Amino acid sequence: MSNRLRFAPSPTGYLHVGGARTALFNWLYVRRYGGQFLLRIEDTDQARSTEESTRAIFEGLRWLGLTWDEEVTHQGANVERHQADARQLLALGHAYRDFTPPEQLDRLRKEAEARGEAFRFDRRLAELPPDDVKRRLERGDPYAIRFRVPDGETSWDDLVHGTITFPNRDIDDFVILRSDGSPVYNFAVVSDDVAMRITLVMRGDDHISNTPKQIMLYRALGAELPRFAHLPMIHGMDGRKLSKRHGATAVGDYQHLGILPSAMNNFLALLGWSPGGDREVMTMAEMIELFSADGLLAKASIFDPKKLEWMNGQHLSRTSAAELDPIVRPLVIQAGLAAAEELEARRDWWLHLLDLLRVRARTTHDIVRQAATYFADGAQYDADAVAKHWKDRAASADTLAAVHARLSETAWNAPVLEEALRKLSEELGVSTGKVFQPLRVALVGQLASPGIFDVLSVLGRERSLARIRAAIDFLRAD
Ligand code: GLU
Repeated sequence: MSNRLRFAPSPTGYLHVGGARTALFNWLYVRRYGGQFLLRIEDTDQARSTEESTRAIFEGLRWLGLTWDEEVTHQGANVERHQADARQLLALGHAYRDFTPPEQLDRLRKEAEARGEAFRFDRRLAELPPDDVKRRLERGDPYAIRFRVPDGETSWDDLVHGTITFPNRDIDDFVILRSDGSPVYNFAVVSDDVAMRITLVMRGDDHISNTPKQIMLYRALGAELPRFAHLPMIHGMDGRKLSKRHGATAVGDYQHLGILPSAMNNFLALLGWSPGGDREVMTMAEMIELFSADGLLAKASIFDPKKLEWMNGQHLSRTSAAELDPIVRPLVIQAGLAAAEELEARRDWWLHLLDLLRVRARTTHDIVRQAATYFADGAQYDADAVAKHWKDRAASADTLAAVHARLSETAWNAPVLEEALRKLSEELGVSTGKVFQPLRVALVGQLASPGIFDVLSVLGRERSLARIRAAIDFLRAD
């Protein structure tokens, strides 16, 4: 039988990292072992569900590349089936009508609390003799449909946690259909999972307490049980459940912070899964290949934003300039560094620059920040760079003058430039650093940059010489 897994978010907010992690694991499982990955929007809670959240979920999943294989299911569209399934349970005797008015239940609950006892629902009071039921139905009394929890215990072999067992006596007969005909959450989930022929339910372990109820419902409906995998919670650095308090928790936020989808996926994949060994940085293709249900971890994982940034840096340096181009180019245009036409006209140059910068950046915004100087008319001198490498202004100016003279007569390609500058530092009797560092400040104004010969070649002869000249003038002024 082919695997059918689903991601079933409730559209009551943005796609948060916990949801994205669950989606990714379901997706990876299917890509690794074959089958279908389905998306179900659990929008039965009409008061809290919004179109906007549904859109945000679609966008987040698309950005991550977690595409689904069949048309999206909207749970709210299946209410008639939920009702029919509830009636079936009624007909089979697995459920009964409960006419108890909600106020009475409330009162009983409060009285139990006042006595310091946990409220237990009493089937013997709620389930009426058939004649009574008939009379009330004829009268049109409202009723809920309640599931008759069987005796015994319910257990399953969880893919993550091993065997989990709940005694059924801890579970009260629970409502499956409210008196207004709406299904309760656990019932809608089972009815849909059965209809969608789901074979493995993989979700956060905050759902573990729902699972025994759901398993009983499967059995009562005569449906085949899926397997279950409950993924560990994600905690913040302080060990508490991840929440807004910890900073950005929406997937969309990370997109705007300059994170690559491949890095986000890689980072999320390690929250509850290990490929074994100390392997960490993986492409999507590698994750699919390495993914295994055995590698799922039970203990809570820690969301470390610094690690995400590091991971992103790793992915930036492993992604080719041509692949990064469509992501970074719009940012360069947005930042006003260049117009779209200019980038297109100088495509080779731009890809060369991108290639140099990507290995030194942690986010795509970093790349844009570093790129600015290459688009500018001249270098803006950073105070720290000046203090460090142009401490002696006159000496720095003299060095740069010697560099200018030498480079003016040198062919413009990296190996020749390198040879010329190394020879010059020998002649001047100083270390290469004493030549390269002041030159770096003259060219880009910064303490850090790609290799100096790369910078010279990407700036080109004319602009490099003009920047060196400008630096000499700057250093010799006043
Ligand atoms: N809609 C539930 C949630 O967002 C998930 C239900 C499930 O996966 O069974 O937490």
